[in-house]
Amino acid sequence: MRDDNCIFCKIANGVIPSETIYEDDMFRVILDLGPASRGHALILPKQHYKDICELEEETAIKVLPLAAKIGNAMKNSLGCAGFNVVQNNGKAAGQTVFHFHVHLIPRYEEGPVMVSWVPGEADPGELTQTGDAIRSALQSEGHIQ
Ligand SMILES: [Zn+2]
Repeated sequence: MRDDNCIFCKIANGVIPSETIYEDDMFRVILDLGPASRGHALILPKQHYKDICELEEETAIKVLPLAAKIGNAMKNSLGCAGFNVVQNNGKAAGQTVFHFHVHLIPRYEEGPVMVSWVPGEADPGELTQTGDAIRSALQSEGHIQ
């Protein structure tokens, strides 16, 4: 199911362009326009699910393996020391777009980590460059053609 009024349905299905670093028949992974750090990405299913509670199992079982693939490519391409997998459900938890999504946040330094963040500003050129780096790593690892 898709929701015509949902911006993530439009992005996930290519109606609205995005800095896509990975795509298959069920998911699109894009760079966040308000990144917490360089390479901050979002995993979006192409079907509309409001949150994790609505997610179908056949989609859910693919989310963490995909997060691992992308996170590994981030480490190999961006040189981050680690990454967070963050998934918010509901307004109180910080969910602002009510289409299930997973944040992948590269971390470059050891130290205290906050799971909330103030959105930064993405420079379009830097987004493209960062997207190219991750896509290239995914390609060399055989995850995209
Ligand atoms: Zn949606």
